[in-house]
Amino acid sequence: TEDALRQAQKMEAVGQLTGGIAHDFNNIIAGIVGSLELMSIRLGQGRFNEIERYLTGASGAAKRAASLTQRLLAFSRRQTLEPKPTRLTNLIGGMLELVQRSVGPEIDVRTVATDQVWTTFIDAGQLENALLNLCINARDAMPTGGTITIETANVGMGREEAARKGLTSGEYVSLCVSDTGVGMAPEVLERAFEPFYTTKPIGQGTGLGLSMVYGFAGQSGGAVRIQSDLGKGTTVCLYLPRYAGPDIPEDTAPQETELPLA
Ligand code: ADP
Repeated sequence: TEDALRQAQKMEAVGQLTGGIAHDFNNIIAGIVGSLELMSIRLGQGRFNEIERYLTGASGAAKRAASLTQRLLAFSRRQTLEPKPTRLTNLIGGMLELVQRSVGPEIDVRTVATDQVWTTFIDAGQLENALLNLCINARDAMPTGGTITIETANVGMGREEAARKGLTSGEYVSLCVSDTGVGMAPEVLERAFEPFYTTKPIGQGTGLGLSMVYGFAGQSGGAVRIQSDLGKGTTVCLYLPRYAGPDIPEDTAPQETELPLA
C-alpha cells in the first residue's frame, strides 16, 4: 500500500541520516579519546600547559557532538504539515524583503511570474522555509555577487514528464530558484539531497537545507529537481500540486485562507 511505501521511504531516509551522524560522531569521539590519552601522558610528564590545550580541544569537540544530536532531533521532530490553499505569487511577494536582506546587496533578486496567480495546496510556513533555503544556497554559490531569479509558472504535466519527476500526471505549479553561481559537479549533484551532505566549511553548512526541501516537496505531493551547469549556475525547481478548489479572494493573505479541498 501507499502507507507501507511511505514508511519504507522514511526508514531509508532515517538510515541515511543515522549513517551520516554515526560517521561524524565517530570522528568527534576519536578526537576526544585521543585528547584524553595525550592528557594523561602529559600529566605524567608534568607538561601542564599542553594539557590545557588538549582540554580546550576536547571540550570543543564535545560541544560539536552535542549540536549534532540537537540538529538530528530538530530534523526528526519536523513540524507536521498544515496544508492550505496558498497563492504562490503572494507568498513570494511577502518574502522578497527577507530574501534580499538574507542574500545581501551584492545579489540582485528578480521575480518572474506569468500574469495569473497560481494557487497550490501546501503548508505556507514550510514553503517559505524552502524558498529561503534555496535562496541562501544560491547566495553561497555566488560569493562575488550575481542574480537570483525566482520564477513561478503553471505546468500541465503529461504522463511521461510526470513519471520522469516521480509524479502522477496533472496540473502543477512550479517554483524555480536560479542563480548565476559556481554550479554543482556531478558528484555533488548526486548527493545534494542527502541529509548532512555539505561541501561548505564546518559551521557554515548543515547539509540539511536541500534534504528538507526534498522532504517537504514529497510530503506535499510534489517533487524537486536540480539542474546545474558547472561554472554557470544552478536552477532548483519545486513542483507542487495545483489547487483546484474554489477561487480565493484576491486580498486574502495565504495564511488566513481556509478553504476545503475540492
Ligand atoms: P548546505 O547548504 O548546508 O551545505 P544543502 O543540503 O542545502 O546543505 O546543500 C548541499 C550541498 O549542495 C551544498 O553544500 C552545495 O555543495 C550544494 N548546493 C546546494 N545548492 C547549490 C547551488 N545553488 N549552487 C551550487 N551548489 C549548491
